[in-house]
Amino acid sequence: MPFSTLGLRDAIVNALHEVGYSQPTPIQQQTIPVILTGKNLLAAAQTGTGKTASFVLPILERLADSEMQRKKRIRALILTPTRELAVQIQANIVQYAKHLPLTSFAIYGGVDEKPQKQALIDGVDILVATPGRLLDLYTQRAVHFDEVEVLVLDEADRMLDMGFIEDINKVIDKLPSERQSLLFSATLSNQVRALAKTAIKRPVEISVIADRDSAPKIEQWLTTVDKDKKSALLSHLINTEAWNQALIFIETKQGAAKLVSQLEKRDISAECIHGGRSQPVREQILADFKTGKIKYLVATGIAARGIDIDDLSRVVNYDLPYPADDYIHRIGRTGRAGAAGEAISFVSNDDFKNLCMIESRLGHLIERKEIAGFAPSKPIPISVLNFVPKSRQHKSTSDTDRPTLSLGKSKTASSDLRKTKTAKAPITPKGNKSNPWNV
Ligand code: AMP
Repeated sequence: MPFSTLGLRDAIVNALHEVGYSQPTPIQQQTIPVILTGKNLLAAAQTGTGKTASFVLPILERLADSEMQRKKRIRALILTPTRELAVQIQANIVQYAKHLPLTSFAIYGGVDEKPQKQALIDGVDILVATPGRLLDLYTQRAVHFDEVEVLVLDEADRMLDMGFIEDINKVIDKLPSERQSLLFSATLSNQVRALAKTAIKRPVEISVIADRDSAPKIEQWLTTVDKDKKSALLSHLINTEAWNQALIFIETKQGAAKLVSQLEKRDISAECIHGGRSQPVREQILADFKTGKIKYLVATGIAARGIDIDDLSRVVNYDLPYPADDYIHRIGRTGRAGAAGEAISFVSNDDFKNLCMIESRLGHLIERKEIAGFAPSKPIPISVLNFVPKSRQHKSTSDTDRPTLSLGKSKTASSDLRKTKTAKAPITPKGNKSNPWNV
């Protein structure tokens, strides 16, 4: 199906061909015609499926025929959880709007606000923003919302995980009630649905039915290892497997810096990004990673959110994340737009609880591979797939406030489960109607 059949004008279709998109992805095929009718939308869509274009393209189509009326106004607002994602989305808008007279801009925290205020003076057709900075600038009357026609809440689950609910609600309160609202989220949890209820009137609900060809092809495997051997294991794999590139996720910024110096001691040059580094530094490092100048990038989960690199071949979970959805977001950095990717997890004793939660979320065990010379001193047991964490507390980074493993009535690892150890197929979140890849 060509893009032209979706109801997009030639100026947009031509720009898409120029960036090399030959046809719409499944989410684009499903959502673009609905959004073009002006309806509100609640979409379950995983990053990596082409979801950004699925809301940007109909927004461009909608805004192309009219103009902003006054200064400091915006006509479409895209709220997104992180600065990296904001920058990424705006870069996509620039590509897709290449042949249209529409303006776009991204605002986010952690950098000087003056240039952002300056850019808003003449108004911007499409503003991509993180919620906190947007509210700051709104309070200072640097931007007005009375001409907003479209609101997008992108990666809504992630924004909620990051504690943005109050800011989001404050922004929504200030928007014109006559507007089109679109919400995209990897998961449609109760929290996300509650937000949708307040933000979106009578939405059409779409869960991406991706076919196998467009589903990310991610080979997932894990290896068990003692915590203090992880950096040696990483160096070993980089050298023996001749890895040309890896995005390595780690829990803390201190850990990130330490790992970079441990790799350097073994003559492996790496860089790290985390919330403690300035925005210009992070942007430069990301740019260098994209061009291949930096081959190994160590990142904390939040800093790495929104990284969009074509052909990223490998992600490594140096630590296993909590909550389990973060695992899915992380591995979604690879295997994008149909390319093959590899997601490797280093599991030590400390990671066992998180492993149980992740494998329960996936609904299957991840294939285990043993790396000679790195077997842990005490074997890590097979996960219990139906375990429920005692605490439902969300988003923690310290060990102390992680949920406690509760085996409850569940069986210990059964022989049936042991047999399902191999899981090369794309991931299948258990019982999740909104499984974005529908596999
Ligand atoms: P997203 O899910 O928006 O993060 O997009 C994931 C990746 O797919 C990005 O690198 C996009 O540039 C790319 N992409 C989006 N739409 C298409 C398409 N129709 N054909 C090929 N690549 C696409």
